[in-house]
Amino acid sequence: TGGEILFQGRDLLKLKEEERRKVRGAEMAMIFQDALSSLNPVLSVGEQLGEMFTVHRGMSRKQARSKAIELMERVRIPAAAERVRDYPHQFSGGMRQRIMIAMALALEPALIIADEPTTALDVTVQAQVMDLLAELQRELGMGLILITHDLGVVADVADRIAVMYAGRIVETAPVHDIYKAPAHPYTKGLLDSIPRLDQKGSELYAIKGLPPNLMHIPPGCAFNPRCPMAQDICRTEVPPLAEVDADRGSACFFWRECLDGTDSH
Ligand code: SF4
Repeated sequence: TGGEILFQGRDLLKLKEEERRKVRGAEMAMIFQDALSSLNPVLSVGEQLGEMFTVHRGMSRKQARSKAIELMERVRIPAAAERVRDYPHQFSGGMRQRIMIAMALALEPALIIADEPTTALDVTVQAQVMDLLAELQRELGMGLILITHDLGVVADVADRIAVMYAGRIVETAPVHDIYKAPAHPYTKGLLDSIPRLDQKGSELYAIKGLPPNLMHIPPGCAFNPRCPMAQDICRTEVPPLAEVDADRGSACFFWRECLDGTDSH
């Protein structure tokens, strides 16, 4: 409803629809969480990957097919040349997610947005897919925005983290600063909810209550009904994203107390 989306110096909200279409896929691409519902079930994966090259790069079908095989090899799909004719349902969940990554990489975008890319996968496959994404990101020098609920995944992959609550950024900082000492009670609650191997025998912490209905966000700080540090001001005023230091911000009136009161994670 407002603001700007700056990408390589341009505000995407000000682009015309035609210009925006050129940005999508070619300059930035997206990986969704459920590969099975994102892929077309009646086209082979080769056709779907190849389409990126016939439509955006004007290649022939033959050229597009060999590009599709190249991409499948790049995301380490075994026997790519044979499997290029297979349909999405013939692949495992992890392999399908690799195909989604291949599609996102096809036009070598400057930025990939990955929305919960590993949620539907089991833990071992999850780690393989994340490793692959991180490796390709380094190799190709792309930006990667990872949207996730999994703070364990973030710790391995991200340089910077922005914690969101009720549609707003409540804390943003270099990833290690956040894990060392969160400056927002919500971030602290999320970190405290991660099971730790060195703390066996005690009950796992859970943030009380439920996330708010976005149509009825509580007045003041949206986190106040669930926050163990809430004071009167939190129920009436919205905390601005205050500067904690040059590289870090927190939308909490009491970020100093939060920082002081934390153990390191
Ligand atoms: S502003 Fe108040 S309610 Fe919101 S996170 Fe900070 S202490 Fe909690």
